[in-house]
Amino acid sequence: MAQDSSHHQANCQRWHTLSAEEVREAQGVGREGLSSDEAQARLEEHGRNELKRPEGSSTLKRFLRHFHNILIYILIAAAIGTALLGHWVDTAVIATVVLINTLIGFVQEGKAEKALDAIRKLLSPVALVVRDGKRREIPADEIVPGDLVHLQAGDKIPADLRLVDTKNLRIEEAALTGESVPVEKDLAPVTDDAPLGDRACIAYSGTLVTFGRGVGVVVATGDGTEIGRISSMLGEVESLQTPLVRQVEQFGRWLAAIIIAISVATFAFGYWVRSYPLDEMFLAAASLAVSTIPEGLPAIMTIALAIGVQKMARRNAIIRKLPAVETLGSVSAICSDKTGTLTRNEMTVQVLAFADRQVEVDGVGYAPHGEFSAEGRDINPEDEPSLWETLQAGLLCNDAQLYQQNGDWVMEGDPTEGALLTVACKAGFDPQQHHEHHPRIDGLPFDSDTKYMATLHHDHRGHEVIYLKGAPERLLSLCDRQMGRQGPEPLDTTHWDRIMDAIAGRGQRLLAIAARDADSGQSTLDYEHVEQGHFTLMAVVGIMDPPRDEAIRAVEECITAGIRVKMITGDHLITASAVGEMLGIHRQGQYQEGDQDGGQEECRAISGQQLDDMDDQALRVVVANTDVFARTTPEHKLRLVEALQAGGRIVAMTGDGVNDAPALKRSDVGVAMGRKGTEAAKEASEMVLADDNFASIAHAVEEGRTVYDNIRKAILHMLPCNAGQSLTIMMAILMGLALPLTPVQVLWVNMVTSVTLAMSLAFQPSEPGVMSRPPREADAPLLSGFLLWRIPFVAILLWIGTFGHFVYMEQLTDASEELARTVAINTLVAGQAFYLLNLRLIFQPVLTGWELFRSKAIWSALGILVILQLSFTYLPFMNTLFGLEPIGLSDWTRIMAFGLAVFIIVELEKWVLRRTSWVETGDGETNPPSNQPRRA
Ligand code: ATP
Repeated sequence: MAQDSSHHQANCQRWHTLSAEEVREAQGVGREGLSSDEAQARLEEHGRNELKRPEGSSTLKRFLRHFHNILIYILIAAAIGTALLGHWVDTAVIATVVLINTLIGFVQEGKAEKALDAIRKLLSPVALVVRDGKRREIPADEIVPGDLVHLQAGDKIPADLRLVDTKNLRIEEAALTGESVPVEKDLAPVTDDAPLGDRACIAYSGTLVTFGRGVGVVVATGDGTEIGRISSMLGEVESLQTPLVRQVEQFGRWLAAIIIAISVATFAFGYWVRSYPLDEMFLAAASLAVSTIPEGLPAIMTIALAIGVQKMARRNAIIRKLPAVETLGSVSAICSDKTGTLTRNEMTVQVLAFADRQVEVDGVGYAPHGEFSAEGRDINPEDEPSLWETLQAGLLCNDAQLYQQNGDWVMEGDPTEGALLTVACKAGFDPQQHHEHHPRIDGLPFDSDTKYMATLHHDHRGHEVIYLKGAPERLLSLCDRQMGRQGPEPLDTTHWDRIMDAIAGRGQRLLAIAARDADSGQSTLDYEHVEQGHFTLMAVVGIMDPPRDEAIRAVEECITAGIRVKMITGDHLITASAVGEMLGIHRQGQYQEGDQDGGQEECRAISGQQLDDMDDQALRVVVANTDVFARTTPEHKLRLVEALQAGGRIVAMTGDGVNDAPALKRSDVGVAMGRKGTEAAKEASEMVLADDNFASIAHAVEEGRTVYDNIRKAILHMLPCNAGQSLTIMMAILMGLALPLTPVQVLWVNMVTSVTLAMSLAFQPSEPGVMSRPPREADAPLLSGFLLWRIPFVAILLWIGTFGHFVYMEQLTDASEELARTVAINTLVAGQAFYLLNLRLIFQPVLTGWELFRSKAIWSALGILVILQLSFTYLPFMNTLFGLEPIGLSDWTRIMAFGLAVFIIVELEKWVLRRTSWVETGDGETNPPSNQPRRA
């Protein structure tokens, strides 16, 4: 089958001038697709269908980038300064500190980047191809030239294709041409010089199918595709930046400028006013600057974000865009699809309602076993012509497949269709045989805008018949007759409305089935054919799709967390409210929006049609009080998101279809379904749910809040500790005393505490009650009132301890300066270490429960710190290097007593803050630390 490659080359890039048949021939592919062996051979010849990664920066470059940092510049200047002054030991110590600092940043950030890369891989797309005569889903990077690829609405085109079959195929080529209006595709070849946008017979890799279906032969893969040729523009690696990281970096730059100014002033003051020696003062000023600038913070934040992303992935929420992690923490409304997300998407037909009676079916799941009964008596479907015909229509207007695997029944395809297939099998139909006797000539796939699916068949009498199934109101408007006992009769709409209300009231979803004879000889089916109407309604089917247990719990959790859950569904109004009630969605009205009288008893729902009649102003009011939206189309989602955002909410919105893309893009966190979602929806979203489960969104919110907490904790540790260090040096200079810590000693403390203590805060597990406080305000400033209080408070505590202990040693004992300094340093470090324990929980007491022991990271950090500090204090060469002296047990007792005092004082401070309910939650809001949902 292999083609001679000169032929292939000659045609290369001129595929748009050839007819479909010529292309098939040139690519050596028939209707059966490629054989597996041939595909394998071509894969080896052409390589994987992936774009070459843009040259990542080399390891060395990435390492050197870590030197590009204001702190490092200051340190290097200090090292040069000390070298010029001949203080070689100091130079060596500073150089080591620089090296270790950059090394740690480099290693940790590398790890974070790897983790994110691994998560991106989880999102690799698949493609539907024909191989060995069978349709198969394969990873898109295994596609080879010559493959026959099937396309449908929502797919991302996996390679450049020459189309060989299309049905209303429209493709949005913005990725390639920048034109966002979808173009209609067809099969006719065009002239050689036609511009890209006019080559209607080619589907380009990376573009999106917005409508219809098609089949194409792969003509180019990987870097050979049009997009591959311009990929240098698109291949940029997503950066690790998020708004918060940027905010902190900016803050850090400001702080650095201020600190450098203070250092210069301190230097001038010390040298001229206090007459310290020049070299000592130079080093003191440099170390003052270095110990105060929170240089490690951006790295710690990135690590906290990366860990959050990893944890979310483990809980089935895959983050596509890093800033979403932060936004998730402030989400205050989640709009969710119903089917499959809040419900299990395991559908079972329970009742078929006809014009004259109802037939009940028992059995659960997709196992085709169950009995039919009417009016309490068992019936045999074969004796019931109207039932039999309806089941047949449901079986033929259907793309699902049912088969047995290891004894279990497995359904493949749309669950609604799976339910219809199962009920037909329960009646004794053999699907394959029926499809052979009534071959499908053409069809229109289900679409949530049209809300129906239609197929055209030859029936056994040689007639053509159109079967139609879909949302009942939609079908009722297309029917003018109903199937009665004695044949077709006029449609009785009131009868059907009554029946539908009754079935929907039980929370079952509704589906209607209808049929019409087609024109004789009709061989294609278009929307116009269906929209002509004149169908005969056969039956309305009630399908049960029970809520997921974990979704019920997650809804409850969201309500407690102050997040409003909105259910948006294409389903019937009454079904939607019944399911809403089962899920507990109606209960949130009781807590919020000022519903003082105990809230609604039943689930208020509103239909898409009612939404259409409202202007944006009215919608804003309604959306605040209504939680269930039924009979909606994807266009409604966009309006709902906008209305919620206008009301000040941060909105997460789920979606799966192509038409959901605008709403997903507009929402603050677009959430696409990983299983049933289209590539188009995934592209438009920030997060993808691997299990399509609502509970995973709630988990992601919890992790998002935790990440934000951890970042705050790191800030809450780093800033006061740095401030405490610099305060100690500055005060000594201002008072004209001996420095309690020499510059190199300060560098040591700064290094060990920021790499161990502050870093461990990035790894904290969630606080208990993260999900029982209201969401953080999105625009809350980083430096909230609480932070502005906590920083000086702890800084002064640390200073008092360090400075006090140093003065005590110097004045009241006959300790040498070295000994006094060693004691002072260990006092400072102990204070910082004990303060770390306080930060396990920002406001809650850490001694209740086992909270302190839930964080392994804290204890590992403390363990490392103890080892480092002991070697620092007792190893002889360290002593010489840093100018220290080993200290005794009584010194340690005082040091530990101080540490303990810091711990107790901060716990007391937290208690006072809680008591005065001045506690905020990171957002400027007061937070009564209770489990009760907030009342407005
Ligand atoms: P969601 O809650 O995720 O929006 P949904 O199933 O409730 O999903 P749609 O998928 O838009 O919403 O379906 C709307 C209606 O269309 C359903 O209530 C049903 O009557 C009908 N329907 C669903 N699937 C099919 C199908 N495969 N063929 C024909 N009609 C269908």
